[in-house]
Amino acid sequence: MLLGIIGAMHEEVIELKEVMELIETSEIGGYQFFKGTLLNKEIVLVECGIGKVNAAICSTLLIQEFSVDKVLFTGVAGGLNPDINIGDIVISTDLIEHDFDCTAFGYEQGVIPRMENSKFKADLELIDLAKKVATENFGENRVFVGRILSGDMFVASNEKINWLRETFIGECTEMEGASVAHVCQILNKPFVVIRSISDKANHDANMNFDEFVKLAAQNSKIIIEGMLNAL
Ligand code: SAH
Repeated sequence: MLLGIIGAMHEEVIELKEVMELIETSEIGGYQFFKGTLLNKEIVLVECGIGKVNAAICSTLLIQEFSVDKVLFTGVAGGLNPDINIGDIVISTDLIEHDFDCTAFGYEQGVIPRMENSKFKADLELIDLAKKVATENFGENRVFVGRILSGDMFVASNEKINWLRETFIGECTEMEGASVAHVCQILNKPFVVIRSISDKANHDANMNFDEFVKLAAQNSKIIIEGMLNAL
């Protein structure tokens, strides 16, 4: 089995890259794909860049060019649920593109017209495995399994948090997960998104982000490694 692993930023992939045994690096359209093994599992690792389009391109390439069997997304996010703190873990059940807005035609926010489904569901086995590994490492109280919201927007205000919580009941918000999920639904590949909380999406979010991104990325990496061991 070949696993595709995606992170948006350097901070989110560097540690996995440092510990993997690299066999081959390929470059497509400026994205670098690192093929090799990690904990004796075959992986392709890619830093996709920030935002939904970058993440969609890299997910598509992982599936079509590298023939990965499953996709894991690792990274950081802003917490929306007030019970979630910096350093906690969110594992995706389903994901929504929260900035998709065709409400002018009567669609609900986040609904993509002419698509059967705009709430992209992660794979149940991968969710269970991520939850088990995360709970073993961080304890039950710090692990949340629920909806993740993605949009091309760094959320840093209480108004936006309230709107996102009320509209979608999301646990956390970020900028890539739902587009990875969208691609995986279309191309029929199992996936899960694992996010560690770097900030609380409020007016301190940018400062917290800079301070905690490394810690949060390390947490996500611990879960990916635990999952690889079990897969
Ligand atoms: N400081 C960075 C920009 C980070 S954008 C730079 O200058 O390059 C934020 C990244 O972290 C995105 O990849 C997104 O998925 C995630 N993220 C963390 N907190 C977020 C928040 N509050 N809102 C949206 N995305 C967030």
